[in-house]
Amino acid sequence: MSRIAVIGGGIAGCTAAAELAAAGQQVLLIEKEDSLGGNIKNYGCKADSLCTRCNLCLVDSVFNQVHQEENIEVLFDTTVIDCLKEDEGFTLITSSGELEEQQPDISEVILATGHTRWSELETGTPEIFRDERIIWASDFEDMLEGRQDQLTGQNLKFDLGFEPESAVFLQCNGSRSLQEKARYCSKVCCGYNYRIARVLRNNFPEMDLSMFFIDMQEAGFLVNLSREDLKEREIDYYNCKPLRLEKEKDSLILHYEDQQRGKMATLETDLLVLSEGIHPGSNHERWARIFNLQENEDGFLRTIWSPAESGIYLAGTITSPGDIATTMAESKTVAYKLLENKLSKAKV
Ligand SMILES: Cc1cc2nc3c(=O)[nH]c(=O)nc-3n(C[C@H](O)[C@H](O)[C@H](O)COP(=O)(O)OP(=O)(O)OC[C@H]3O[C@@H](n4cnc5c(N)ncnc54)[C@H](O)[C@@H]3O)c2cc1C
Ligand code: SF4
Ligand code: SF4
Repeated sequence: MSRIAVIGGGIAGCTAAAELAAAGQQVLLIEKEDSLGGNIKNYGCKADSLCTRCNLCLVDSVFNQVHQEENIEVLFDTTVIDCLKEDEGFTLITSSGELEEQQPDISEVILATGHTRWSELETGTPEIFRDERIIWASDFEDMLEGRQDQLTGQNLKFDLGFEPESAVFLQCNGSRSLQEKARYCSKVCCGYNYRIARVLRNNFPEMDLSMFFIDMQEAGFLVNLSREDLKEREIDYYNCKPLRLEKEKDSLILHYEDQQRGKMATLETDLLVLSEGIHPGSNHERWARIFNLQENEDGFLRTIWSPAESGIYLAGTITSPGDIATTMAESKTVAYKLLENKLSKAKV
């Protein structure tokens, strides 16, 4: 019996695989790492006294389903290095370490190899990052993990070698900037940083918290992400990007344009927390060549031929930035579309 290959075991690939398997299809899921989950596998709950709808609660059942589903075979530590077009379908050439293997009888392929995070890229990383007082928002994940059973407990501990009394959140790193080769909005980082700021506010009521942003993207997945809410939580906001960072022994000094007063101003802080954007994955050139796809102007992938004819489908952040809920909804749609096309083909 032919199989559908899903390449990438993040939430996009797993959602599509689970839907297809539940519809009775045989699925071969190919993941380059040794576990499922992709970029979200190390994320923890970001509730403060309330759930802030980070979407993580949606994913466990999908990953469990993939692990338990008899119709899904998972190849870990494996990637695809070539694809041979056959009369009917494809043979994929997979590689795991030294071992190269043929995977014959593949009827369709769903590519779901996701995105790269801005912090993983070497290019464009300014030298300001090499300072223990400047961290990524995701550096809070280890702290968050430790408090999952006591969501409202005051048990967060900084593992920075110092106890900051203030923190400034800086939005749009690796996004909305030609210089950073990302003209687009990454959609998820406003919500991500904002949730971390709320957790800090909840756990460290005395801490001075501020946020620099261009505008706030709700991306449809937060309870409330507004200036009123920031004010209510005593998080100061600055509607601009700082122009300069000065590093003093005792503090970091951000220089920004105070638009209301029409002059330059400064803000001092102990800790600078950077958002990080979603960037195209590292294999896009290879995928474009092997599967006859195209990179769009931002480096994300799109199909040239209709998937109904080519048998090649794309799911998740391989095509554009998106949060978990959107990725899951779109990946389900990709699976349904594939099933529909299969059915139409069978009728001809
Ligand atoms: C900083 C940050 C914070 C975020 N916070 C949130 C949030 O709070 N809430 C929310 O809803 N969303 C959030 N997101 C978005 C979320 O991470 C994405 O929606 C989700 O990861 C998309 O899943 P995906 O499967 O498309 O890609 P990925 O998570 O990137 O998964 C891709 C999978 O493909 C595998 N893979 C890659 N290359 C290959 C290859 N060559 N061969 C085989 N396998 C391969 C990878 O190992 C991985 O398992 C955030 C994103 C970022 C960057
Ligand atoms: S914050 Fe996220 S993980 Fe925590 S309860 Fe809400 S949706 Fe679930
Ligand atoms: S989601 Fe927010 S922080 Fe991220 S790129 Fe868009 S505007 Fe900037």
